[in-house]
Amino acid sequence: MQCCGALMVGTKAKIQVGGIVVANVPFLVCPVCGRGEIHPKVYGEFEIIEEMSEHIESAFFYFDEVATVDWDALKETVPFWVDDEEEVDERLLAELIDHTLDLYGAAEHLADEAWAGELRRRFSVLAARYRDRLAFAEKGPYEEPANG
Ligand SMILES: [Zn+2]
Repeated sequence: MQCCGALMVGTKAKIQVGGIVVANVPFLVCPVCGRGEIHPKVYGEFEIIEEMSEHIESAFFYFDEVATVDWDALKETVPFWVDDEEEVDERLLAELIDHTLDLYGAAEHLADEAWAGELRRRFSVLAARYRDRLAFAEKGPYEEPANG
């Protein structure tokens, strides 16, 4: 459950498959590179929706009304979960950084070099993104110079 080296965060996503829009889909998203995927535990049930989309022109429904979703069990599979995708923001990044530093302390304590190395990489990815987002919040969107 990794992509650019940051940590995937669990959330509920709204996903469109053909003409079908499905809300409350268990989803994993990377707060840094934005890569996302359907939570592997429900992927099989989501495939049924993909098959349905070939026969239904348009529909809207909640995933957890048509499939059995054990939210508590899903939330236990990831260290971080936010119910709303909008909450994947600076505050969450700061929490992920804290979490990574805690783990790094544990890795150092265990003298687990491989784990510590992975955590150093994760930290640098998260910290770079955190700085970018803070700069963005202060300056606003980048504007193209008038004359290029
Ligand atoms: Zn990523």
